[in-house]
Amino acid sequence: MEIKFTKAAQLKEKPDFHCLGFGKYVTDYMFVMDYDEGQGWHDPQILPYDDFVMDPRCVTLHYGLETFEGLKAYRTEDNRILLFRPDMNAKRMQKSNERLCMAEIPEDMFVEAVKALVNVERDWIPDLPETSLYIRPVTYASECTIGVHPSSSFRFYIILSPVGCYYPEGVNPVKIFVEDEYVRAVIGGTGFCKCGGNYAASVKAQEKAEKLGYTQVLWLDGVHREYVEEVGTMNVMFKIDGKIVTPPLEGSVLAGITRDSILHILRDWGYEAEERRLSIHELMEAAKDGRLEEAWGTGTAAVISPIGELNYKGQITTISDFKTGPLTQKLYDYLTGIQWGKIADPYGWTVELN
Ligand SMILES: *Cc1c(COP(=O)(O)O)cnc(C)c1O
Repeated sequence: MEIKFTKAAQLKEKPDFHCLGFGKYVTDYMFVMDYDEGQGWHDPQILPYDDFVMDPRCVTLHYGLETFEGLKAYRTEDNRILLFRPDMNAKRMQKSNERLCMAEIPEDMFVEAVKALVNVERDWIPDLPETSLYIRPVTYASECTIGVHPSSSFRFYIILSPVGCYYPEGVNPVKIFVEDEYVRAVIGGTGFCKCGGNYAASVKAQEKAEKLGYTQVLWLDGVHREYVEEVGTMNVMFKIDGKIVTPPLEGSVLAGITRDSILHILRDWGYEAEERRLSIHELMEAAKDGRLEEAWGTGTAAVISPIGELNYKGQITTISDFKTGPLTQKLYDYLTGIQWGKIADPYGWTVELN
């Protein structure tokens, strides 16, 4: 792929890497490539970060034909730059795009574009503990028409944001509200896709949880409001009676790359990890009997986020005495150790930029 490069007239001043927050800052450049029927993907370029000009009829604004990804670049202590399983993000975006009748980006093109942009923006990868460069690839339908039908033109772009901890609380237990009114996804819908539409449907519940003093919601399935699905924008895992239980990938749950990595690690450590339906009643029973030992969410942004409290219909249960459980901590240390190049990667998950 021949990527055209346009130099910025002036580079931005870098922010203080000590207080990055999440998604507050963007780097100097972005990657952009367009698709038109008959032509395929064309004109890949890296150019100064800037606004897009959009026709008000652009179908993505009306019908939400949009998908995205999220991954990170990490700076190691010896100054190497690592990506974590970028091929998995490429494959997942293909699945999301396929479901929304959007043009798929070939895996090698996706990975090459990510690498090329991060390479240009190396200086933006922070070097402090717990910091990284968040990478956000997006595809949207760019056709101009008011009719509803699959689009024939698309834009794929990538932007970068230096980030610190996802939650202001840091790696500490969060309080979770079990949502039994609103639902995020149903089987047959787009729950397994990383698409904006899923998020549009979920902010109302997020707002409600925050008003009640909770950080996130625990989603239940859309049909029975009974089976646990995800926690906010993360996959969820529970340690019950020494075994790990996580909801299966049946169409309404997103196939998290962190989820997949953690399941691999747990099984290698000799844990039994079950991917099966878990009802909220079974979960609350286990909590009441003291068999629910630990609970955590998994996702690229926060990596692992311990759950310290669940509120289901006013029934409140505290997990691990509202402390980060030992297995939760061990998993966090091990996976982030691999990601930041502090410990050897036996899985070949990290991809070094050269
Ligand atoms: C992105 C995302 C996740 C986590 O996926 P990772 O690949 O681990 O970052 C989980 N659930 C939802 C709804 C997501 O959008």
